[in-house]
Amino acid sequence: MPAPSNHELTGWDCRHYWHAFTQMAEYEPLIIREAHGCRLVDIEGREFIDGVASLWCNVHGHRHPKIDAAIRAQLDRIAHCTSLGASNDTAIELAKRLADLSPAGLEHVFFASDGAASVEVALKMAFQYWRQCSEPQPQKTKYAALASAYHGDTIGSVSVGGVARFHEMFEPLLFEVVRVPAPDLYRLPDGVDTATATEFYLSQAEALLAEHHDELAALVVEPLVQGAAGILVQPSGYLAGLRNLTRKYDVLLIADEVAVGFGRTGTLFACEQESVSPDFLCLGKGLTGGYLPMSATVAATHVFEAFLGRYDEMRTFFHGHTFGGNPLAAAAALATFDVFEEEQTLARLPEKVGCMAEHLERIAGLPHVGDVRQKGLMAGIELVADKALKLPFAWQERRGAIACRHAMEHGVWLRPLGDVIVVMPPLSVSLDELEQILRAAELGIRAATE
Ligand SMILES: *Cc1c(COP(=O)(O)O)cnc(C)c1O
Repeated sequence: MPAPSNHELTGWDCRHYWHAFTQMAEYEPLIIREAHGCRLVDIEGREFIDGVASLWCNVHGHRHPKIDAAIRAQLDRIAHCTSLGASNDTAIELAKRLADLSPAGLEHVFFASDGAASVEVALKMAFQYWRQCSEPQPQKTKYAALASAYHGDTIGSVSVGGVARFHEMFEPLLFEVVRVPAPDLYRLPDGVDTATATEFYLSQAEALLAEHHDELAALVVEPLVQGAAGILVQPSGYLAGLRNLTRKYDVLLIADEVAVGFGRTGTLFACEQESVSPDFLCLGKGLTGGYLPMSATVAATHVFEAFLGRYDEMRTFFHGHTFGGNPLAAAAALATFDVFEEEQTLARLPEKVGCMAEHLERIAGLPHVGDVRQKGLMAGIELVADKALKLPFAWQERRGAIACRHAMEHGVWLRPLGDVIVVMPPLSVSLDELEQILRAAELGIRAATE
């Protein structure tokens, strides 16, 4: 069969390929044929810099020779092997590597294929833990989660999620959650300033934990930055404070680092910046360098031990995904770690982070930019109708989407979160490319808010 024409591809894309988080009636095809480094090339040969790292997952660039070679070499041995009662050398090596690199005490790696599943696994493990730990508390069956949280799109992860735009529709299907107010430094309540924000939000969390701890199995949080909420950066000390409170009230802590893990915030894991060891670390997106579907839930030893016993004691974690621990993905993940070392990815970040900060400072001066937020190589630019009053644009005006469409005319691909322009390039982005991304974002914002 001859290769389909561009015209055919475009037609089939609209008719047969139902895209995620996309209104298909209005979808305008963007069909990427290939990529190299931070550059995407579409079927017409147009080139775009990838300003959002393939939706937050690409780390070292597309078609990195080391990662490509690792996958090819694995392909010559075995492409898939189940994790149900059997193992694979590549996946074992990855589990060991993750145990070594995760915060202290996290040593037991459960593999799945998507970030949502890694959260789902942590939720179920936490639930089961309280039934079979040394002093069982089977009444601990609920979860606490932050307002405007995003943890994925399965029913469990949507239940702990709190983005109204995505989640409200499904409310009748969801379990009840204790909702902790989310730190929002741009829209602080009256009487709270940046100096007192940590204390204020922690006292709110504490009040809820004090009231509900008896029924709470776990608290789930995106460490340092709530991504899909609009790149909401937490005040310093907040994460460490949550860790202290969850210890004090005997509630397990699930750190969802699916977005912030793998160097995104400047350290390999975000938890490191506040010296926090959660009970569960959820990883996805960047784990394979953004190449292949793989996620991991890294559990603390006390959790793992509560699941050990004779088969007939029924302590087994009866949960699994067919492709969990896939060797091709594991090979990509191991190569991703190797590249972190060989290319000194983390050591080279501060210069890029600084460059981003400089541009953001300029962009913050635009008349319709209400706030710019940055942590590491992760930034959000919030557009507002009225800067003094912090009034949003009517959401139907889709200013964020219009700004990103204009950015494409300047050779940069971006995807916004409502009226927040997200800038999250691969960590391998060059200073030149980073500058082009931010210039295009600025031009797009100007065009969309004139
Ligand atoms: C993307 C994301 C998820 C979901 O990961 P998927 O692989 O899309 O299922 C979960 N948590 C956070 C914080 C995310 O950003």
